[in-house]
Amino acid sequence: MTPANISDHGVGRVYLVGGGPGDPGLLTLRGLECLRRADLILYDGLVNPLLLRHTHAKAERTSRATGPHGRRIDQEEINQRLVDAALAGKTVVRLKGGDPFVFGRGSEEAAALSAAGVPFEVVPGITAATGAAVYSGISLTHRDHASAVAFITGHEDPTKPASALDYQILAGFPGTLVFYMGLHRLAAICESLIDAGKPATIPAAVVCKATTPFQQTVVGTLADLPQRAGDAGLHPPSLLIVGECVQVRDHAEWFEQRPLRGQTIAILRPEEQADSVVDQIVERGGQPLVIPMIEITPPSDWSAVDAMLDRLAEFDWLVFTSVNGVQALFRRLWELGGDVRRLGQARLAAIGPATAAALEQFGLRADLIPAEYRGEALAAALSPLVAGKQVLWVRANRGRDVLPTVLTNAGARFESVVAYENHDVDQLSDADRAAFESGSVDWVAISSPSIARNFSRLLTPASKVRLGDPTRIAAISPVTAEAARAAGLPVDVVASEFTWDGLLQTIAQAPRNANAGRGLLDSGVRTGDVRST
Ligand code: SAH
Repeated sequence: MTPANISDHGVGRVYLVGGGPGDPGLLTLRGLECLRRADLILYDGLVNPLLLRHTHAKAERTSRATGPHGRRIDQEEINQRLVDAALAGKTVVRLKGGDPFVFGRGSEEAAALSAAGVPFEVVPGITAATGAAVYSGISLTHRDHASAVAFITGHEDPTKPASALDYQILAGFPGTLVFYMGLHRLAAICESLIDAGKPATIPAAVVCKATTPFQQTVVGTLADLPQRAGDAGLHPPSLLIVGECVQVRDHAEWFEQRPLRGQTIAILRPEEQADSVVDQIVERGGQPLVIPMIEITPPSDWSAVDAMLDRLAEFDWLVFTSVNGVQALFRRLWELGGDVRRLGQARLAAIGPATAAALEQFGLRADLIPAEYRGEALAAALSPLVAGKQVLWVRANRGRDVLPTVLTNAGARFESVVAYENHDVDQLSDADRAAFESGSVDWVAISSPSIARNFSRLLTPASKVRLGDPTRIAAISPVTAEAARAAGLPVDVVASEFTWDGLLQTIAQAPRNANAGRGLLDSGVRTGDVRST
């Protein structure tokens, strides 16, 4: 089949998208659009999984090694999967680290798609070289030091005669050299450059895990960099930057001094409610890990909701105690062909600002929000208003029962409808368990007593062993801390202000754990005119 004789009709499309070097903010707008419209995403090992927040598609990691994240899958198989999915009518995103066409085999994938007659598009990304340079304060083309820059793959052994790289030519290159390379190649590359005539005193830097919370930069000269890098205990992926521009590395503070830098923080909230916390952690330089303890699902049977939707105009008050309740009710109404006019004169009560904001998304204004965002306060605020009135509470399958008692006593004709269900998650995924067992989680942030109890229940003896060192526990309030301790969890810090903002501030101020998982950090110590860490 050739591109000429296949019509777009019924065939999907593949987007080869550059996901950037690590920081989830470094995705292009076009890339974001592609993620949003995808049915299937195949992403490689260098892609930050946080990018998957922007999609509802099925996403699969194409790993070069078998591990907790999935099985090994080779290039041929990836090409075939892309082709098959597109021919089956799917919109597919092949999400790759950095830029898809910079040392990324993206062009091979494009060739395979083209050969199979599959329509495709390529979306560039920020490549590791520019990401690493900028986030470590290095200007690759600093006007005083370099008028050219070369991107080089240093993955092959430079001492092999078959090496495709001519180090004589590289040593004479009039500008900055950036090697995409494994750490084990560092010494051989530096030596080969010196042997080929590059001065041993030229400044050079290794940047690891660039643009992520775990970025580390080690600076030295071609002669001493391998030793310094060895002493620093670095982790892949890594880049080598060689050139005079490295010595003017002065303006990296904005990135390297963020308060949660290097800290991996597990959030146990349901996926749907984790978004704003994820943003707050990323903004402060930390690595969020969302491990929901509760799963939100539609009701197993919609008939009760559907019957209520037909009667909405009968109610004087509709009471919402969660964002999920608002969304479930109005999405269902829309799906059945109705819209908010069905509400008639009903007034709306929301338990707090987030629930009110969810109503706003449907063009609705809350008539009542209690001053304190708790069931008791909502019941107290509604009580004087509901005598003889018909009240409908849109609720979950479980939760506290303050409203029915108080409002019935206040003379309301009270009814409720279960618009969504929440269930305790009953096991940790393999990847999450591995994260705990390897000590890669620095903090577990616990925001409610029920989450504390479920988390404790899910921990296997092996993962429990790591609690306290290095994995510490932070509780959002004294009530939550008490519940966590009662469930056998050693609580290390309690937020002084009982909000997520307060909790993250408390974590940022806690002394750093020397054994913290991957948080081996650039301390910013200066030695002479180069920075070595
Ligand atoms: N297409 C990618 C490169 C793929 S080759 C891009 O444009 O960036 C993989 C190599 O890129 C790694 O071995 C490493 O040398 C480099 N690399 C990728 N991400 C990196 C990061 N966050 N920090 C440092 N080096 C990185």
